[in-house]
Amino acid sequence: MNKKGSIVIITAPSGAGKTTIYREVMQRNRELVFSVSCTTRKRRPGEVDGRDYYYIDKKTFEEKKKRGEFVEWAYVHGELYGTDRSQLEHCIEQGKVCILDVDVQGALIVMKKYPLALTIFIQPPSLEELDARLRKRGTESGEEIKLRLLNAQKELEYSRYFKYTIVNDNLESAINKLEQLISNFGRLRSRQGRASPESAQSVDK
Ligand code: ADP
Ligand code: 5GP
Repeated sequence: MNKKGSIVIITAPSGAGKTTIYREVMQRNRELVFSVSCTTRKRRPGEVDGRDYYYIDKKTFEEKKKRGEFVEWAYVHGELYGTDRSQLEHCIEQGKVCILDVDVQGALIVMKKYPLALTIFIQPPSLEELDARLRKRGTESGEEIKLRLLNAQKELEYSRYFKYTIVNDNLESAINKLEQLISNFGRLRSRQGRASPESAQSVDK
């Protein structure tokens, strides 16, 4: 029996705490696999090439795009981001649960291609708190923060397209909620897998 893997799509306005939350959940559950995206944005201090992103230039991104190497790609906050197709397909073939950190545009495309994906929107408690978190993180300039906050207002309207919303007010409880959702999804998936292995994921290229 060929048990296929599955996808967890996690989306949030920048600064809501998504990376902090899923990193901790991945620490707790070593079976989860992170889909490392490609981006043209600069590497932040502390980020590692090949772990957080593949940092590539615009020309390389365009070439990869032309060769159809992305499941989806999008302009986000003025930079290009894309999900690597072969990495994702490999993860599914291996029967793993793959975590995708994508923006709302990417999430909507992946949802269409993988309708059985678990979709989670992480929401900040307020825009004021989002502003404070971005400033405290200190990885973007004032102008970049302004753009991220402006985009956040639009992104929040898309939360209704996601199966679950987690409000990241208390960090520990947000981590526990994500862990629980993924664990329930895994259980459901293995029950479905036994009944109908091919129903785990469908890929529409
Ligand atoms: P994202 O990946 O959504 O852009 P990050 O995970 O980088 O966001 O978090 C943005 C900032 O907010 C980080 O400095 C992080 O430590 C902080 N943060 C995350 N969750 C909380 C929380 N519940 N309360 C306060 N600060 C938080
Ligand atoms: P950051 O620059 O803060 O790491 O990410 C900015 C935004 O880009 C976030 O909303 C993040 O989810 C999104 N993002 C990261 N990787 C991808 C990707 O491969 N595709 C899309 N569409 N968005 C991505």
